[in-house]
Amino acid sequence: MRGGNYEFRRIRRRFRRPVVTGGGTVDAVDRIVIRAHRDGETGYGEVATWPGFPTETVEAATEALRSAQGDLSLLESKAAARDLPALAAALSSCRHWSEIAKYGGALDCAGLVTGGEDARAKAALGHRTLKLKIGPADGPEAARAVLDVFTGTLRLDANGSLDLAAARTWTEFVRSEPRVEFIEQPLPPGHAGYASLGPEKVALDESFSAPGGAEWPGPVVVKPSLAGDWDALRAWRAARQEPVIYSSCFETAVGRQGALWLASLDPGTPAIGFDTLGRFELDGRDRHESGPLARGLAGYDWERFWEELA
Ligand SMILES: [Mg+2]
Repeated sequence: MRGGNYEFRRIRRRFRRPVVTGGGTVDAVDRIVIRAHRDGETGYGEVATWPGFPTETVEAATEALRSAQGDLSLLESKAAARDLPALAAALSSCRHWSEIAKYGGALDCAGLVTGGEDARAKAALGHRTLKLKIGPADGPEAARAVLDVFTGTLRLDANGSLDLAAARTWTEFVRSEPRVEFIEQPLPPGHAGYASLGPEKVALDESFSAPGGAEWPGPVVVKPSLAGDWDALRAWRAARQEPVIYSSCFETAVGRQGALWLASLDPGTPAIGFDTLGRFELDGRDRHESGPLARGLAGYDWERFWEELA
């Protein structure tokens, strides 16, 4: 094997306001930033899990990092067993860091909104795609309220919260409204109703986390931090016709930089879901700018970022 060593730092980040997900309310998340050294090169990666997604826990990743005792090759072989997809993604970032650190491009970013007022503000900032979270209490009028105040494309995300009757109503609405791109995860993961809804304008998020999981002949949302090894992900992507939407899961600047780089390798990708900055208490872990374009931080001083994590 190729040798190498690593260090890691585990940090807790508190949300300013709790984030509501399909799996409940989240007040804070733990992240692990890894610094790897091999062949005279330094790379960074981040373990960033998210409730409701079938990856290992931060605890399990921490345990693997402790037990490999700084031996990078040993850690890589543990992660490659594929039951540690968040760790495998972080190690992919470490391995590709020399390219990731150079990424300074800009990608269209969908703006997250809660209703018409928000939509006006995000559209004024320049977002051409907006995303609205919907729940069992909402009907299509919630989406119309957003469509009425801007001229771009709308995505809906139910986070698996609907029953089959509501999912059917929404799917009909989405298919009849050209400016709605898709509805994301209308039903819970594994729900038998997906077969009858069909894939047209129905995207999977929670149901899909890594290549080799559920196959879906429609759009899928990929969170690079949860998707396992990035080389395998790129090979899977290259063989797939349907759209892939890249999405953040509240990473620090290290995880965000890597995920943006990965999304940038997919030409013609639809707007990415990276409107996640500014959600945490000011802890200095976010370094990118928010806005309608998600930009990479080329030439950033990542060593300093690392030191400031301590
Ligand atoms: Mg989603």
